[in-house]
Amino acid sequence: MQYFPAFMKLEGGSCLIVGGGEAALAKLRLLEKGTGSITLVAPRILPAIEEVVRCGRVIWEARPFTGEDVRDRRLVFAATGRGEVDERVSVSAQAAGVPVNVVDGPAASSFITPAIVDRDPILIGVSSAGTAPILARSIRAQLEALLPAELGRLARFADSFRGAVKAVIPSFIGRRRFWEDFFASPVARQVLAGQEQQAREAMLSRINRGQGSTAQGTSVEGSVALVGAGPGDPELLTLKAQRLLQGADLIVYDRLVNPAILEHARRDAERLFVGKTPAAHHKTGSHQESQGEIQQILLQAVRNGRRVVRLKGGDPFVFGRGGEELSYLEAAGVTVEVVPGITAATGCAASGRIPLTQRGLAQSVTFVTGQGEQAASEPDWQSLARLGGTLCFYMGVATADRIAEKLMVAGMNGATPVTVVEKGTLPEERCLPGRLDGLPALIAAEAVEAPALIVIGEVAGTQNINRLPSFAAAV
Ligand code: SAH
Repeated sequence: MQYFPAFMKLEGGSCLIVGGGEAALAKLRLLEKGTGSITLVAPRILPAIEEVVRCGRVIWEARPFTGEDVRDRRLVFAATGRGEVDERVSVSAQAAGVPVNVVDGPAASSFITPAIVDRDPILIGVSSAGTAPILARSIRAQLEALLPAELGRLARFADSFRGAVKAVIPSFIGRRRFWEDFFASPVARQVLAGQEQQAREAMLSRINRGQGSTAQGTSVEGSVALVGAGPGDPELLTLKAQRLLQGADLIVYDRLVNPAILEHARRDAERLFVGKTPAAHHKTGSHQESQGEIQQILLQAVRNGRRVVRLKGGDPFVFGRGGEELSYLEAAGVTVEVVPGITAATGCAASGRIPLTQRGLAQSVTFVTGQGEQAASEPDWQSLARLGGTLCFYMGVATADRIAEKLMVAGMNGATPVTVVEKGTLPEERCLPGRLDGLPALIAAEAVEAPALIVIGEVAGTQNINRLPSFAAAV
C-alpha cells in the first residue's frame, strides 16, 4: 500500500490553498464540504472564487505566498500551476510537518486526494495511487449508481438510536446482530424512501423487542449455511454465498476452497480449516472421525449463537458430504440454509470449452466418483460404458488407470476422447486432451495433480467441436 487511507478531521483547524485559478477552485469546492476554516493565498483570483469569498466561508489574502503561510495548518494545497511556486509551498509545508498536496505533482505531495462518493456521513474514497485516475473515477461512477442517494440519512437515523440500542442490548455480538438485521430490514428501506416518521415508530418497537429477548435471557440465535464456493475462481461465487460470507462469524472451510475466496468474508470472521488430505480420504476410519468432528464443531457453534458458513469447494451436494452435515444438523433441530455452488464439472467444462451435453454427441451427463474402491460404492461400469453420454470423474487422478480399464472392459471404445482439467478455473489451470486408452499415460506424463476432473465422451475431443451439427449447418 503506497498510500494509507485515513479520514482527516478538519473541524477546529485551518487549511491553506495557494493559487487563484481553476485548480484552486476545485480544491476549494472539495474543502468547502469539510468543517474547518479555509485560507486562500493568491494575488489574483477567479470571479467564481470571489463569489465563495463573498459568502464568508473563505479568507482570501491577496498577496504572493510566503513560507510562513503553512504554519499551523491541517492541510496545504499548492494549486498555482507554477512549478517553482508550488515547489516552494511543498518544501515549506514538509519542513513544517504539514501534509501537502501539489496539484498534478504527486512527487512533491505528501498526500493525494481520492475520487469521492459523498453520502455524508458515509464517505467512500477511491484511489489508484496515481496510476490510473480515470479508472478510479469510473469506479466512483459505478459506486454512485449503486448506492442510494439517501444513504447518509440512513446512517444518521441509525446514529440517533445508537444509545438506545446500547442501553437495551448490552452484548456486543447482540448489538452487531441487531444492526445487521436492521440494515437489511424494511425499516431501513423506509428511511431510504424518506418515510422517517413511520420508520422511527417501527424502530422503537424493534428496540423494545430486543429488550424483551434480553430480559428473558434468550441468547442470540445462531445460524448455519452449507455454501458452495465454486471450483476456484472467486468470481464464480454466487451473490448469496458472498452475502453469507459477509455476515458470517465463523467460516469452516475445506482444502478445496481457494484462499482468495476467503477474502470475501468479513474481516473479523473466524476461519477454521478442516480440510482433509487426499490420503486421509482413503483411510475410512480417520475420515469418518474427522467428518464427525466437523459436524460437532458446526452444531456447537450454532448453539453458541454464531453465524456459521460451512464453505465447500464446488457444490455442497456434489461429492461434498453436504448431505451428511445437513441431516446431522437437522436431526439436532437446527435449520440449515443450503446455497449451491458451481460444481467442478460445469466449471471445468466452461473453461475447457467442453459442452457437457450437445445435440448429436451427448444426450446425458453423469457425475461419477473415482474413489469407489469398496464393492458397495463401485460404479456400474457396464451401464456407464453403455450410456453414450458424457462422464465426469471426480477424484479420479489416482485411479485413472482403473477407470480406463473398467470402461474398456465394459465395452467403451479406447479411442473415446478424454480431457483432463487440472485446477479448473484457477490461473494455473491445464486442459489436457487425449484418448481413453491413453488416459493413465497422459496423467503420468503430464504429472497431473489433484484437483483434476476427467471428462470422458465425444464432447471431450476439442476437434469434435468443429464438427458439431449446428456448426456445420452454420457454415
Ligand atoms: N463438491 C465439489 C467436489 C468435491 S470432490 C464440487 O462440486 O466440485 C473433489 C474433486 O472435485 C476433486 O478430486 C476433483 O476431481 C474435483 N474438483 C474440484 N475442484 C476442481 C477444480 N478446480 N478443477 C478440477 N477438478 C476439481
